[in-house]
Order: sequence, then structure tokens, then C-alpha cells
Amino acid sequence: MRYLIIGGGIAGTTAVEELRKLDSSDEITLVSEEQHALYSRVLLPHYLKGKIPRERVFLKKESWYEEQKIEWVRGISVVKLDPKNTFVELSDGRELPYDKLLIATGGELRTLGLDVRGVSYLRTLDDADHLNQLLAEQGSSCRGGVYGGGFIACEYINLFAHFGIPTTVIFRGNHFWSKGLEPEVGRLINQHLIKKGVELHPGGLFVDTMGERELTGFISSLGEHPCTILGVGIGIESDDGWLREAGVKVEAGIVCDEFLQTSEPNIFAAGDVAEFYDINVGRHVRVGNWMNAQMQGRVVAKNMAGEKTVFSLVSSYATNALGLEIIFVGDVSRAHADEVRLVGSVEQGGITQLFSRAGQLIGAVLVGRNTDRPIITKMIQEKRRASEFK
Ligand SMILES: Cc1cc2nc3c(=O)[nH]c(=O)nc-3n(C[C@H](O)[C@H](O)[C@H](O)COP(=O)(O)OP(=O)(O)OC[C@H]3O[C@@H](n4cnc5c(N)ncnc54)[C@H](O)[C@@H]3O)c2cc1C
Repeated sequence: MRYLIIGGGIAGTTAVEELRKLDSSDEITLVSEEQHALYSRVLLPHYLKGKIPRERVFLKKESWYEEQKIEWVRGISVVKLDPKNTFVELSDGRELPYDKLLIATGGELRTLGLDVRGVSYLRTLDDADHLNQLLAEQGSSCRGGVYGGGFIACEYINLFAHFGIPTTVIFRGNHFWSKGLEPEVGRLINQHLIKKGVELHPGGLFVDTMGERELTGFISSLGEHPCTILGVGIGIESDDGWLREAGVKVEAGIVCDEFLQTSEPNIFAAGDVAEFYDINVGRHVRVGNWMNAQMQGRVVAKNMAGEKTVFSLVSSYATNALGLEIIFVGDVSRAHADEVRLVGSVEQGGITQLFSRAGQLIGAVLVGRNTDRPIITKMIQEKRRASEFK
């Protein structure tokens, strides 16, 4: 059997590892755009804060791939797929055939499309190295700017605070995660950040950077904001044109069933790129978190090897914004919930926002109430009614 895995992140590499465990003689090829051996994106903020050395972010040694008898094609991307004739084309022109194909290409950061030194993104180890260099060069003269109101924006806020860098944050809505969170929950986060000394400007749109070659600030619809590093966290998107061209069904992500099988025979998807059927919440979802990607890597390998296995996980993403714990559990799409309910209040310093569909609890966002997490996870798994949560 010839297995071909596209994407060497946690989903793709876990699948490779599992496939090798299942059979020692199969041909396994892993194609990855990045040059590095598997590393943890989750640990990048810790590396940037100097809490761990750079080598500790790696989860695999370079020698691991050869030891596992894996053909590791790195620094190369897949640009074309021909499902009928079962091969892919690489950016260097080579063609690779497959019997079973896994697409685990994650997501690419949405960018501002500007190339001024001082604009920073945070997805890859190379991004982190670049930011590390900027921080080291600027030292105490650094002034932080953040554009975005989600997970990556939180990472920048925490990072700048760690180094005592004054920070201005601008985002489009009235508060963080404004599409999904109720205004009361948003107010709790805003108030906390302001109390911690962050200069917050809700409702601002990015217009342009300031400075010729080096960043001196940026202009938003609200005015000018001086800064020397601008951390941009405005979500991810996928470079999926080659998949659509090949006839693979792609919507928000690559559409696949609960076995992580796509619309095409012998082609599977896993990790951030997959829009899979989530049996716990009864609809297709696209999820961007580490545990989901890792567990899907495991399950998809079994399915590729013919051991039919349903993927089931109530996934969660925990972050914090200057000490305020924020946890997303299950399906937290406001558009797909027919009811939301809040437990707690700004005055109590913690709110849990519950999402339900047809009365069933499908997800929750916990702000300053992390002790609710186990019971909520259990309730989603057991398909219990949201009204049972007090
Ligand atoms: C800074 C940061 C902090 C995070 N913190 C947390 C956290 O605390 N908790 C949590 O749960 N999650 C966290 N996440 C999210 C988590 O890291 C991701 O959900 C997870 O890494 C997704 O893994 P993946 O394998 O699906 O995709 P990726 O890690 O994106 O890997 C996909 C790989 O495929 C490659 N690729 C893409 N296109 C092609 C192509 N055409 N050909 C070949 N290769 C290609 C890419 O270069 C990439 O290396 C964090 C992410 C970041 C960036």
C-alpha cells in the first residue's frame, strides 16, 4: 500500500506514526511545505517568552523520519491533485502516486498583504523566530500593537505584557470573538484587559501601516496608533484552489464524514483543514485546536488502513488573556445555535455562555469559570439538555 500524507503538522505526523505502527512494510511518504521536523505551535509563545529553549518546541527529531522508514519530502508543497489517476504534483514538478491520500494541510494565516518590517504573524516557527528577533533588536524601545480579537491576539497581548511592552489593541467588533460571544461576556473580557493596562480600541478597521521600511505605527478607521511591532491575528484561511479544481468537496474546510473520508474515494482529511461530521453535535464543523488535530491523525490512519473508526471528541481550546481563563468547548458557532444562555456575570468575575440546539447542549465558552469545563464536556458527550446546567 502506498500512503501519501500532505502536511507535516500534528495531524499529518500523527497519522504517519499510526500508519507505521499498523504496518511496518507500507510505503509512506510525507510532503510538507515547512522545512522543520514536527514542532508544537502551542509551545511557540513559551519559546518567545524565554520559558523554554528553541529546541524544546520540537516534538520529533530530524532522524525520526528515516528511522520510521518514511520518505520525508520537505520544503515542497503539493500544487495539484488528480484523483482519477491517483497522483499529486509537487511545486518542484515531480509527480507522486498514491493508493490512499491524506490532506492535513492546516490553515494559512490571513495577512494584511504588506511587507513592512515590524509587522508580525504567529503561526509557524519561522514566524516566531522573526518575532523573537524583532523583540531582541528593539528591547525597551518596543511599543506593541495588536490587530485582531481572537486567540492569536491574546497570545500577542500576553507576550507584550510579559516583556512590559505598552500595548494598543484594535479589533473590528465591540469585543473579542464578537461574532459568537454575547455583549456581556465581551464586556467582561474588555474590562479585564483595560484594568490590566491594555489600550483597547473596539470597532476599528485596519487601514495602513506607518513608516517606510521600519514600522512606526498603523492607521485604523479610528486614527493613528504608534507601535514598532504590530501583531496581526485575523484568522486562518486555506489555500484550497487545487483541491476544488480536483473536484474535492470544499466548503469552510474539506468536507468529510465521521470517518474523515472526503467526497473522493481513498482521499481523507484531518486537522484544522477538515470540516468533518461531528457526531457529538450533529453537524459538520471545522475546528482549529491541537487535541482535535492529533486525535484525528490517529483515527484517520485507522480508517486509511481499513479499520473503520468513527471520530468522536468534544474538543476544547483553552487560552488566557492576562490571567483571565477563556475556554471554548464543543460547537460554539452562534449561527448554528438556536439559543444561548449566560450563567454568571461581570460582577461575579466569570460567565459561561451556553450554546444549545433543539434544547441540547452543544457548546460553551467559559470566561473566568474554568471549573465548569468537565461537567460541560460530559453533558455535550451525553447529549444532555442545556437547561440541566445551573
Ligand atoms: C501560536 C499558536 C498557539 C496555539 N495554541 C494552541 C493552544 O494553546 N491549544 C490548542 O488546542 N491549539 C492551539 N493552537 C492551534 C493548533 O496549533 C492547531 O490547531 C494545530 O497545530 C493544527 O494542526 P494541523 O496539523 O491540522 O495543521 P498545521 O499545524 O497547520 O500543519 C499543516 C502543515 O501542512 C503544510 N502544508 C500546507 N499546505 C501544504 C501543501 N499544499 N503541500 C504541502 N504541505 C502543506 C503547512 O506548511 C503545515 O506545516 C495554536 C496555534 C498557534 C499558531
